[in-house]
Amino acid sequence: MTRKFVTGQISHETNAFSPIRTEIRHFQERGAIEGQGLLEVFGGTKTPVGGYIKFSQDVGAELLPTMSYSAVPSGLVAHEAHVQMRDRLVDGIREAGKVDAVLLALHGAMVTEGIPDAEGDILKHVREAVGPGVPVVSTLDYHGNITDEMVAIADGLFGYNTYPHIDGYERALEAAEFAVGMLDGKVKPTSVVVRPPVAPGVVPARTGWGPIKKLLEKAFEYEKQPGVINVSVYGGFVYSDIEPAGLAFIATTQDDRALAGKITVDLAKTSWDIRHEFVTPMLKPVDAVKHAMAAARGPVVLADVADNTGGGASGDGTEVLKALLDLGAKGAVVITIPDPEAVGEAYRVGVGGTFDTLVGGKIDDKHGAPVRMKGTVRILSDGRFVHYGPMSTGMVSHVGRTAVVVSGGVEIILNERRNQPVDPEAARSVGIDPAKRKIVVLKSAVHYRASYEPIAVEIVEVDGPGLASPNLSRFQFNHIRRPVFPIDEI
Ligand SMILES: [Zn+2]
Repeated sequence: MTRKFVTGQISHETNAFSPIRTEIRHFQERGAIEGQGLLEVFGGTKTPVGGYIKFSQDVGAELLPTMSYSAVPSGLVAHEAHVQMRDRLVDGIREAGKVDAVLLALHGAMVTEGIPDAEGDILKHVREAVGPGVPVVSTLDYHGNITDEMVAIADGLFGYNTYPHIDGYERALEAAEFAVGMLDGKVKPTSVVVRPPVAPGVVPARTGWGPIKKLLEKAFEYEKQPGVINVSVYGGFVYSDIEPAGLAFIATTQDDRALAGKITVDLAKTSWDIRHEFVTPMLKPVDAVKHAMAAARGPVVLADVADNTGGGASGDGTEVLKALLDLGAKGAVVITIPDPEAVGEAYRVGVGGTFDTLVGGKIDDKHGAPVRMKGTVRILSDGRFVHYGPMSTGMVSHVGRTAVVVSGGVEIILNERRNQPVDPEAARSVGIDPAKRKIVVLKSAVHYRASYEPIAVEIVEVDGPGLASPNLSRFQFNHIRRPVFPIDEI
């Protein structure tokens, strides 16, 4: 008998400090996908849903698609948006009839106006729909804030092992194989989660470096032990500011609760012992620009880590742009600033036209003031490009109408929509090769590294203002458990 699986995706990383209320239109703008469209959009992509599609084809199972909604990280999700998405997913699962397993792609750090643990709520409703006997598994983002409820309801949770996130596809294959193992009676999972009182900013918690690298190495060693199915390390997302935000470790074993407990406690203890390694050296915007200008050659990447839209910041921060213009930098490109007004002005004057307007700093008052930019419009584009790099390979981004404006030695890419420039195609698609620029400013905390480390001569992390700053003393936390490191420096 052909097995029948059902899949769906809801994904949002919620930054409680962002004033942008995340409504259903924010999910729709990114391209909400319903029904069969899921198979068309994600088939062949290196994404979690792409992984489920491939797995189902390989094992000859039928995969029923429900829906996929994801939005650029921003503030609390409107309650009605959450209910609409959750119910659409659950209805889709019910409409699928009797299924053998539910294969989800959730984030783990979604917070609504009334529900701190949105994924726990989604999983609860999914479980009610399918009953206790059907395996429910999900991939989770590395930045998931893992709650006891999520672990109790899902049979298996498979967090990305990478930040930059380049293994969503592989984790989905693992999750689906695990579900099939349960169906075949070979897998009898039990999971334990432990959260140490450590909640770093996202920048020092990247996986290719320092403390998280050490913890992952330990987790992978444990995964080799007999009886251990999966050990996941989560960086968490401190900016969600919910009680359990921060690092978490989940161990899933073959019906051995004591072993799962031992592994998670050991990882938690290790993370506590090395907590002081969660620090990142950074330069102020003016110092960072001076440093890059003095470099013998480029590209020097200035990562405006605090203004990372992927962490819920506005992305239209201006301090680095202002420093570039004030200091007369040459061969510099800013990728990117979302500013529909400025894009509209660029379209009005047209290619070759004189551009003279205020840029950036308009979404809120936390990312610097608007900067007057005088220059020339060089390129106008519809803002569609394909990811060829290692993240979301094959997916199409649509960042809205786009303009390239040049002022002296500084180029700026203006988009209508907020979007984290993780793929160099964001620049190449508008005629700019970042590898040929002296200074490349990126509004990204860590994801840019997957594509830019191979081409950058040097990477400098900038300590500018922004809602994704690793400098947690800039924030007033209200809900996270206390004390917690480094907020309380315990
Ligand atoms: Zn993430």
